[in-house]
Amino acid sequence: MAQLALLDPDEPGPVTLDNEAGSSVFFLTCDHAGRAFPRRLGRLGLPESETLRHIAWDIGIAAVGRRLSRLLDAAVILQTYSRLVIDCNRDPNVLSSIPEISETTEIPGNRGLGEDARAARVEAIFRPYHNAIAAALDRRAAEARESALVALHSFTPVFKGVSRPWQVAVLFNRDRRLAHSLAELLRAEGELFVGENEPYAVSDLTDYTVPVHGEQRGLPHVEIEIRQDLIADSAGQEEWAERLARLLPTAYAQLLGQ
Ligand SMILES: [Zn+2]
Repeated sequence: MAQLALLDPDEPGPVTLDNEAGSSVFFLTCDHAGRAFPRRLGRLGLPESETLRHIAWDIGIAAVGRRLSRLLDAAVILQTYSRLVIDCNRDPNVLSSIPEISETTEIPGNRGLGEDARAARVEAIFRPYHNAIAAALDRRAAEARESALVALHSFTPVFKGVSRPWQVAVLFNRDRRLAHSLAELLRAEGELFVGENEPYAVSDLTDYTVPVHGEQRGLPHVEIEIRQDLIADSAGQEEWAERLARLLPTAYAQLLGQ
């Protein structure tokens, strides 16, 4: 039997790709940009208040990504749906890609999902998003354009009651070069407490975008995490976009010079 599509034709698609022809080497991704829910899923049984919290999306990062795209003249790709529907930075074969619990919140609509229900989310959201990234990177390669992957995220200042002191973190897995250069430049700003693989690191199990689109293609890459309270309003979003637009090209130049 044909599987019922998760998204109706009048619902937003999972992918927004802006400024693809931009001149920058940087290719920006925002896996957790949006907090939409497919109509068929309601809000997964959650009150609206939970869908505004960090468990549903990366607060502030879509605006930072769009501003950074303009400042660098870089392509940016953003994912529309809440990570509670499916986490687009996690291998869909990992059970927590559709979490039954996030931080301390139980997600009723994710409890005991069958294979068909999981597959419908993968096919409607995860697959088109990552296919769009792959296709865009393929087009750049075909045009002999260089690409450096910048995966943008934001993190909650307090997780399970524990405060996080970092304002910003750079994360990496097997290749720390671009991340480490950027971390040093961020520290040189003088006022920032910069995490390197803190509060968490990139791994094949907990991440997808950097391992698959960065590492497997051999592209320079960095995952950047900004603390959410710093980019909750437009002044903070502008400040962080401006800072990254200033520092990323220097970090990349350092990498080329190595
Ligand atoms: Zn994220």
